[in-house]
Amino acid sequence: MRKVPFFDQDGHRLGLLAFGRDMTERKQSQLAIEQASKDKTKFIATISHELRTPLNGIVGLSRMLRDTKLDKEQFEWVSTIYASAITLGNIFNDIIDLDKLDRDKVEIQTKTVHTANFMNEIASIIKLLAGDKDLQFNWSIVDPVPLAFEADGTRLRQVLWNILFNAVKFTQKGSVTLSLSSTIYNEKSAELVFTIQDTGIGIDKSELDKIFAMYYQVQRKDFQSATGTGIGLAICKQMVDKMKGEIKVNSELNRGTCFEIRLPVNITHANPELEELKVSGLQILLVEDIELNVMVAKALLEKLGQHVSVAMTGQEAIDMVKETTYDLILLDIQLPDMSGFDVARTLLAEDLVLRTPMVALTANVIKKREEYLENGMDDVIAKPVKKSRIIQVFNELFASDGGGPVPSQDHPQDGVQGAVIIEHSAPNVLDKELLNMLIETIGEGMVEASLAVFEDKIPEYMEVMNVSLAANDKDEACSQAHKIKGAAGSVGLARVQKSANLIQQGDHPAWWENVHEWAAELQMAINQDVPYLHEWLKQQQIDD
Ligand code: ADP
Repeated sequence: MRKVPFFDQDGHRLGLLAFGRDMTERKQSQLAIEQASKDKTKFIATISHELRTPLNGIVGLSRMLRDTKLDKEQFEWVSTIYASAITLGNIFNDIIDLDKLDRDKVEIQTKTVHTANFMNEIASIIKLLAGDKDLQFNWSIVDPVPLAFEADGTRLRQVLWNILFNAVKFTQKGSVTLSLSSTIYNEKSAELVFTIQDTGIGIDKSELDKIFAMYYQVQRKDFQSATGTGIGLAICKQMVDKMKGEIKVNSELNRGTCFEIRLPVNITHANPELEELKVSGLQILLVEDIELNVMVAKALLEKLGQHVSVAMTGQEAIDMVKETTYDLILLDIQLPDMSGFDVARTLLAEDLVLRTPMVALTANVIKKREEYLENGMDDVIAKPVKKSRIIQVFNELFASDGGGPVPSQDHPQDGVQGAVIIEHSAPNVLDKELLNMLIETIGEGMVEASLAVFEDKIPEYMEVMNVSLAANDKDEACSQAHKIKGAAGSVGLARVQKSANLIQQGDHPAWWENVHEWAAELQMAINQDVPYLHEWLKQQQIDD
């Protein structure tokens, strides 16, 4: 709207003259485009995430197959399957990251990285890829470099793989070289310099500053375009920025390309030796529904000297725990009949596990470790399951005080310790104090009836809230969240109430950045906690 004052001949102001333009349609289509783009990225990220499960089976089994007796040709075939599956996994990781970067959700988590192990691991895979194309692959560590340093190993590996894969992809003959050198400033800090040099097709000088842009791929007439997405380097650049490092490229057309990554790090003085597994003979219950994953994990655990029983559904797991006491439960989170969290919650609530640690197995790279701990898990292991990670977790759980496995017969069957664990591990899903009071005053029947009303109303509230979010209508979304909070509070659904409370606080400084995540969490809490409350109410009746 534009407004100008309107005067008569004598200069007296008569009023305002206003010109308005209806821009509703433009605004709406602009929002629709933004939303569609976000939805698309999210959709692709979700699909990629799903595809990783079968892929993990291929990575794990082909890796194990490589260690069996094979002739030279078979060994090469299996190596190619393995390397291809890893490549595919990296593409999926990029896409998942793309979605996270979109929502500014990438977090850098630093841990101790052992320099030699780290380089060895990367080199062993790249060697396979390079070997496939008859390229030479050389790698070196130019001393002095720290023996170990603090970094987000997964992210750093991802960046280096991306660049090394490109080097192999864009080189037809010659070599790819990876080297690590460093400038050590003092006992505590250093700058690492990773250099990746290839003898490939090179990049024209005019293109050099463009290749880090999202979806950019250099157009080449003479080079049959290799498969790619044009997002790898864009993600690498953002990751390296997040790690406070720097990435540079130099290239000469038809002669080769050289990438350089500089990374400031803290030096750690950890023992670079691979940890040894200090426990054996554990009775482990593996709860996993995908046969491939069962095979990989079972084979690995048995190779490490443990005994493994398998449950393929949540219910089967619960039944098995009723029969036998295990030393450890490894729980997949996405089971066909219920989530791994539900299994954990049931086991804890029914006092079926007291000191038995439960460890989540997950292919979900989006969730944070804390979420698993909050849901009753003692730790979490990412899939595909790696030997080093198993060793680390098992040692922490069973051998941190130098002891062996917790003997099964020593498990207390009741007592304070179990109760403490339940309180500590199960998050406050229900407001049991309120529920007990309600049962006492209005009776179980009425509580059930209120819950039925809640279940009846909630889909509508959620729907309106989600539509309001899509339409960028903060006030309406807050108002719906407020209703949900109130309704949840009145039936003792504490976690749902807490989750809705976050959304209703529209003055939160990063409300828009987080609200979609919160809404998803709220939906998850509703899906999980309502059946749980039903169960709980039923249990109270039986107890009576
Ligand atoms: P992708 O490899 O999936 O196409 P990237 O973002 O990893 O996407 O790379 C962007 C572009 O940069 C590539 O398409 C390629 O043209 C160019 N590029 C990257 N690395 C090299 C290299 N080592 N040699 C020649 N060109 C490269």
